Amino acid sequence: MSESAANTPSGDATARIENVVIIGSGPAGWTAAVYAARARLDPLVIEGGPSREMIPGGQLMFTTDIENFPGFPEGVDGQKLMADMKTQAERFGTRVVTDDVVEVDTSVRPFRLVTRYSGEYFARSVILATGARANWLGLHNEERLAQSGGGVSACAVCDGALPAFRDQVLAVVGGGDSAMEEATYLTKFAREVVIVHRRDSFRASPIMAERALADPKIRVAWNSEVVDVLGDDFITGLRLRDTVTGAESTITVGGLFLAIGHTPNTGFLKGVVDLDDAGYVIPAEPWRTGTSVEGIFAAGDVMDAYYRQAVTAAGTGCMAALDAERWLAHGVEGTPHEIPAEPVASEPIAAESVAADS
Ligand SMILES: Cc1cc2nc3c(=O)[nH]c(=O)nc-3n(C[C@H](O)[C@H](O)[C@H](O)COP(=O)(O)OP(=O)(O)OC[C@H]3O[C@@H](n4cnc5c(N)ncnc54)[C@H](O)[C@@H]3O)c2cc1C
Repeated sequence: MSESAANTPSGDATARIENVVIIGSGPAGWTAAVYAARARLDPLVIEGGPSREMIPGGQLMFTTDIENFPGFPEGVDGQKLMADMKTQAERFGTRVVTDDVVEVDTSVRPFRLVTRYSGEYFARSVILATGARANWLGLHNEERLAQSGGGVSACAVCDGALPAFRDQVLAVVGGGDSAMEEATYLTKFAREVVIVHRRDSFRASPIMAERALADPKIRVAWNSEVVDVLGDDFITGLRLRDTVTGAESTITVGGLFLAIGHTPNTGFLKGVVDLDDAGYVIPAEPWRTGTSVEGIFAAGDVMDAYYRQAVTAAGTGCMAALDAERWLAHGVEGTPHEIPAEPVASEPIAAESVAADS
C-alpha cells in the first residue's frame, strides 16, 4: 500500500512513500520480501549493484554447492537458490531496484534513502539486509595483484577454475569453515593447496577441518602468517613469518586465496543505527530484529556475526518482515497502516533503474 507522497520531506510531489524498503538481496532480503509481499506491504527491494566484492544475490552467488539449506536433499547451486528466492519474492509483487543505498536519513519521517544512481526513496520502515563482505590482509602487493588480476582473490569459488590456477600450488589463508571449503574446492584444479594459518589448530567445525586435513592434495603451514606477496605481474610466492619463532621463509605459489572472515556492509549506517565495534548492527532486544531506530529492522549476516548461515539469514529475514508489519500496523506517527483487500499492482518507479530481469 504505497502512496503518492504529497508530504515527503523533500516536498517532491512525484515521489511515493514505500511501506517497507528492504536493502540487500541475499537470503535475508528475499525472505523478508516474500513475507512483506504476502502481507500486502508492496515491498521494494534495493538489491545492491555489482562491485568487485559483492553482487546482487549476496554471498551465495559465490558458491556452487549448498548442502545444508533445508528442502534440497541433493544440495543446490548457490546462484540457482538465489535466483529462485528472487523469483518467489517477485511472484507476490516485490519490486526490485538494482542499486546501492549510500545514505539513510533518519532525521525525517518517512525515512529518506539515497542511492548511488537512481535517486531518493522514501520509506515508512526499512529492513537492513546488506550482509557482509570478505576481509583482506591489507598488504600492498596483495591489493595490487588482486586489482590487476595477478592471481590474488578472496573467492576461490569465483576464480579457482580460471586457467591461470590450473595445476598450480595455491595458498589459502585462514583457519575457519570458509578456508576449509575454499581449500577443498581448489583441489579440483590445483596441484597442491597450502593452507596458511596463524595458529596450531583450526577454528573450523571439526567435520570441515577433518575433510580438508584428510585430502592428500592439502597441506598446512601452521603458525604462519603472510608478510608479503611476491611477483610483478602475477603472484610467484609468499613471504611467511613463523608466529612462534619469528623466522621468515618463502614458498612458491601460483595463486593466493583469502578466507579470513568478513566485514558487515554497514559503512553507510555509521551514526544511523547502533553498530558494535566490528560494525554489525546491534538489535535493540535479544531475539528481535528492531534496531536503535524505531521503524528500522535488520536481518541476516549484517546483524549476526555468530551463525552466518543462509538459513539463519532467511530466518531473521522472516522475523524482520513480521516485525516491520506489526510496527506498521500499530501506526506510524499515529496513522494506522491499512492493508488493502487485494494486492496492489506494481507501479513503475525510475523504470530505467529496475533490473530488466527483476
Ligand atoms: C563462499 C561461501 C560459501 C558459503 N556457503 C554456505 C553454505 O553452504 N551454507 C550456508 O548456509 N551458508 C553459506 N555461506 C554463508 C551465507 O552465504 C551467508 O550466511 C548468507 O548469504 C547471508 O545472507 P544475507 O542475506 O545476510 O547477506 P548476503 O548474502 O551477504 O547479501 C547481502 C546483499 O546486500 C547487498 N548490499 C550490500 N550493501 C548494500 C547497499 N549499501 N545497498 C544495497 N544493497 C547492498 C549485497 O549486494 C548483497 O546482495 C557461504 C558464504 C560464502 C562466502
